[in-house]
Amino acid sequence: MADGNNTRHGATAVVLGGSVAGLCSAGVLAPHFDRVIVLERDELPPGAEHRRGVPQSKHPHFVLNAGRRAMGTIFPGFEDALVEAGGLLLMPSMSAAYGEKDGWAPRKASTMTMLYSSRVLVERVLRDKVRELPTVEIREGAAVTGLVTTGGGTPDGRVRGVEYTGPDGDAVVLDADLVVDALGRGSSVADWLAAAGWPAVPEKTLDAKVTYTSRWYQLPDPADQPPSWWWKHLVITPTQEAGEHPEEHEYLSNFFPIEGNRVIACMGSWGLDMPRKAEAFEAAAEKLRAPSFAAAMKLSTPLSEVHLTRSTGNKWRRYDEVANPALGLVSVGDSICGFNPFYAQGMSSAARSALVLADALAAHGALDAAFTRDFLAAQRRSLDVPWMLAMARDQAYDFAEGTETVGPLRRAVMGRASWPVFNAITAASREDDYVERTFTAVFNLDKSLREMMTDPRFLYGLARHKVRELLGRTRVPAGFDMRHDPPGTDYSDPANPVEAGRGVHV
Ligand SMILES: Cc1cc2nc3c(=O)[nH]c(=O)nc-3n(C[C@H](O)[C@H](O)[C@H](O)COP(=O)(O)OP(=O)(O)OC[C@H]3O[C@@H](n4cnc5c(N)ncnc54)[C@H](O)[C@@H]3O)c2cc1C
Repeated sequence: MADGNNTRHGATAVVLGGSVAGLCSAGVLAPHFDRVIVLERDELPPGAEHRRGVPQSKHPHFVLNAGRRAMGTIFPGFEDALVEAGGLLLMPSMSAAYGEKDGWAPRKASTMTMLYSSRVLVERVLRDKVRELPTVEIREGAAVTGLVTTGGGTPDGRVRGVEYTGPDGDAVVLDADLVVDALGRGSSVADWLAAAGWPAVPEKTLDAKVTYTSRWYQLPDPADQPPSWWWKHLVITPTQEAGEHPEEHEYLSNFFPIEGNRVIACMGSWGLDMPRKAEAFEAAAEKLRAPSFAAAMKLSTPLSEVHLTRSTGNKWRRYDEVANPALGLVSVGDSICGFNPFYAQGMSSAARSALVLADALAAHGALDAAFTRDFLAAQRRSLDVPWMLAMARDQAYDFAEGTETVGPLRRAVMGRASWPVFNAITAASREDDYVERTFTAVFNLDKSLREMMTDPRFLYGLARHKVRELLGRTRVPAGFDMRHDPPGTDYSDPANPVEAGRGVHV
């Protein structure tokens, strides 16, 4: 990482875990230590392949724009490398067909572009970037088993190293000036600290029982794809109808494009049992709100089994609330905060935490209590943004469990209000650039929900659009029948509509 202030912080930094959070952390540590050692339990594949330690890579992974920027800051050229390796840079409002509450959304240019690729490709590109750093060493087959500490729980209590088992089963102790915990959701670091004398780390949790089921497909060659496929990405949001409907209408489904002319067909839900076998997967797709999803699956060739995961609860380990937090240690990525994946925040939050670490390393001359306190405070502010967004929806579910559940009255209000507010925002976004830009910034973690909901110009935009709707004065039509293919008409410029198949993929 190009850094204005490369204060030396010691001989060795050790990163536990070589996935997205660990790799981004290694990038920011490199200018500050003589050597950075990444300990990763898996043997790492040379290419973009799945591995045991990251089972979630079978499911679609969106890189939000805050994460895309953070990864690009840490590793200049990240985005170009991802696109060169087959990732797609698209403008979703032009290249994605959205099944909303009342039907397909109109297609229309907007300010937002997004990167699309598999999660394994994101990781491979980050790994390649880390391998270019001469002072960073990745030790594979290294299973971390504990911490070396002194003075646990006292103001001077510090992590001084780590213990791990090497590929040959040999036990190794490694001294470290700074240890970064990037071990993911299953990290045992909080338990190791407790065993060494620190108090238990308070946890905030909310599990909204989200289940994902995904299968990979090869698309037909572009020349053989039907003309109705102007879209690259299909999204079907859950029905908002209270009455009788097939369970599948409550799914949030994505036909998600990745490199190599492939897609991940993914159906997810809050609180429902999801199919885990191919036949049931195909049968469920047939019952979605839009037949285009199953029709596209039928024209494509399955490349994998069906993969199902329920490991999706929100969980925030509040190291910032511990009295005398361990010095010489920081936690990043899912090891400190995992999110319901529907909001696509995990990798981006991990990359943002790495940037918070970069700022703290640059601002402090020593890895002392002030460094730890300032890092934790800045990281809390950074994590508050995605956390609030996840809570705003997940707290509305009766079946959600955890410390962050709310009372029945508040739950009912949230349940009733969240979709109408979302609908009002997406409707106003179609015709009001300010509303669209603000909502895009919130979705991409560049603004907080609170900032958006207290912004007078934003609220005015919502109200103005509502009035126009009531007066029948809106310009862009919406709610196209989802029993038909999504319409390809481009509503960006009323004077010059671009018909299906001729739209731009940015
Ligand atoms: C279904 C699903 C969909 C998701 N979709 C999105 C999305 O669209 N966008 C998004 O940004 N995020 C998404 N996420 C979240 C995202 O996967 C995580 O936030 C992200 O992977 C966190 O990265 P990490 O490096 O913190 O942890 P992980 O990726 O979990 O990596 C932990 C690493 O630690 C290693 N490790 C574990 N134990 C040891 C040990 N004892 N010793 C050494 N190494 C060890 C593992 O092998 C692994 O490499 C999704 C998650 C799920 C479950």
